Amino acid sequence: MIDRLSRALHPTRGLRALVVQVGDIARMTRLLHGLAPTSAQLFGEGLAAAALVGALQKDEERINLQLECAGPLRGLFVDADPAGNLRGYVRGADVGLPGEASAAAIAAMGGGGFLSVLRVRANGTFYRSSVELRRERLCGALRRWFTASEQVETALELEVLPRGDEPLGQVAGLLVQRLPDGDAAAVAAARQAIDAGAFGEALERGSPALGLVQAVAGDGWELLAEQEVAYRCGCSLDRVRNAVTALGADGVADLAATVGRAEVDCEFCHAHYVLEADELRELERRMRQARQEPGRAT
Ligand SMILES: [Zn+2]
Repeated sequence: MIDRLSRALHPTRGLRALVVQVGDIARMTRLLHGLAPTSAQLFGEGLAAAALVGALQKDEERINLQLECAGPLRGLFVDADPAGNLRGYVRGADVGLPGEASAAAIAAMGGGGFLSVLRVRANGTFYRSSVELRRERLCGALRRWFTASEQVETALELEVLPRGDEPLGQVAGLLVQRLPDGDAAAVAAARQAIDAGAFGEALERGSPALGLVQAVAGDGWELLAEQEVAYRCGCSLDRVRNAVTALGADGVADLAATVGRAEVDCEFCHAHYVLEADELRELERRMRQARQEPGRAT
């Protein structure tokens, strides 16, 4: 199955729903980042969570889901946009705790820290909102984040289900949210169905997206759109050059003279960039030139 995000609407009850499947991305990034099982489980949950929150944003806005936690995972970061592009990393890649997977994930997060969502607008301004972590699943923290930050009735679930020997058989998220003038009681009922295990059971049965929504929120839904969700990193040599200019012309000159090169690893996709001394000196020359040119100073 291709990883995808589905959007559905319940016109008569005034609800919207999102379903995301990110199993392929979770398995691919386990290899990419070399994640031990508990780290991989939590990163999968983080990918699904960020895909849901990202899909709620307007065009050209993106979100950063940031977890900073006291447990051995230490934290994770996922960048997501409404077009279904995801990228991220885990701070503690080597966490593999014994026991049942979701209990291990709670232990890996530990009891303290923050879950934050940074909304980044197209013009570069941003807005951060956070909740303190308790000893809970990532989903529990995200539910509290929705209550505190969005103030819209929301039913939410993140699920990682094994398939045979594969612990990341299915990695999925579901969100049911009330639209203005929508039916709040229907969201509460969806929450109860989720707590009773309806989402996990429907996933287990291999239900398509609309079936997953109906399993927790009843009939009468219309599928609005489906889109691909993919792991895409926007890093490039140009961005690396830009980052290096933060050292200032003197700093770049120093680097060329002492180390002889600049090496940068992208933390999202592990692309490795090298700027050789010649290129650093050229960068330095252009930086000094730009500074001397009147009218460019501001
Ligand atoms: Zn990259």
